[in-house]
Amino acid sequence: MEQTIATEKNTVQEMKKPSIYSLQLHELKEWLQTHNEKAFRAEQIFDWLYKKRVSDFAEMSNLSKTLREKLKEHFTLTTLKTIIKQTSLDGTIKFLFELSDGFSIETVLMRHNYGNSVCVTTQVGCRIGCTFCASTLGGLKRNLEAGEIVAQVVKVQQALDETGERVSSIVIMGIGEPFDNYDQMLSFLKIVNHEKGLNIGARHITVSTSGIIPKIYQFADENMQINFAISLHAPNSELRSRLMPINRAYKLPDLMKAVRYYIEKTGRRVSFEYGLFGGVNDQAEHAEELANLIKGIKCHVNLIPVNYVPERNYVRTPRNQIFKFEKILKEHGINVTIRREHGHDIDAACGQLRAKERKEETR
Ligand code: SAH
Repeated sequence: MEQTIATEKNTVQEMKKPSIYSLQLHELKEWLQTHNEKAFRAEQIFDWLYKKRVSDFAEMSNLSKTLREKLKEHFTLTTLKTIIKQTSLDGTIKFLFELSDGFSIETVLMRHNYGNSVCVTTQVGCRIGCTFCASTLGGLKRNLEAGEIVAQVVKVQQALDETGERVSSIVIMGIGEPFDNYDQMLSFLKIVNHEKGLNIGARHITVSTSGIIPKIYQFADENMQINFAISLHAPNSELRSRLMPINRAYKLPDLMKAVRYYIEKTGRRVSFEYGLFGGVNDQAEHAEELANLIKGIKCHVNLIPVNYVPERNYVRTPRNQIFKFEKILKEHGINVTIRREHGHDIDAACGQLRAKERKEETR
């Protein structure tokens, strides 16, 4: 493992301004017009932000000096400060970024044979309280602004620029519950998906939720063609409530109804994430029950061997048991894969690096 402790210098004042990465193209146009500038400048600015990826307004050489100064006065381009950059033996890179108010978040770059994928964070902490997850340990501190989510992708892309590579997909599976920060998440999606923005196709973006039902309906109605994943983790309501307290508010049968609505509305298949927690939800009977629950639903199941979290008591399912579980689902005609692990030597699973930092801070 290789680790760099970065020393980027951002002044506090610079970081108090809103991030320019928070603005959608039409919002930037409106801002320009109210500041006596031509709307078409928005496209030029997007080009500097997302195609040329500059780090200073001064570099935007086709804009007037006055406009560059106005931008600098109102916005910041230094939304995130890199605190730690860890590179794993398998090429996974994990970033710990500091926000303007001193909170830290994680972003992970994963290498697949089909391209480079970035896992982004949407909240500082999380209030969902899943019993197996490190991200929720300190509760929710605050929501991220769209620009703080966009900047994660830009930062990773800037790191890849050194070798001429490109971010080809995004998964919204870092710290936080994206549907608990719905509006900012949606703005983020529109910015990264925009052809003048990072131009990452909807089909290359995945959003995952623990199951906030009203937002699933709302998201279905956006009809964005984004890949949609649901953290299921249990084949029945009783077990799901034990693992995920959110199931007490948004119950499994209602969740399945919302998922069916999503499929009907978008015509797309969904993914169910199913973490295998040793002795808890990983037995043959659970696989049978799961197959029964999702029978007839256009879906894919992603089995996730539990990531060990020191504060939690869950143990790994033995490999042969994982394969047995997979086989049962396959026998029922269900599309299933076992999630490949990335960056095992660098705490790359959600919230682990940040949780470690927090512990060190409070020591
Ligand atoms: N809050 C969203 C986004 C998180 S995505 C959601 O719940 O879907 C990250 C995925 O990893 C989720 O499916 C989450 O339930 C799962 N996860 C969290 N902690 C884990 C752990 N210790 N082991 C395995 N999977 C875990």
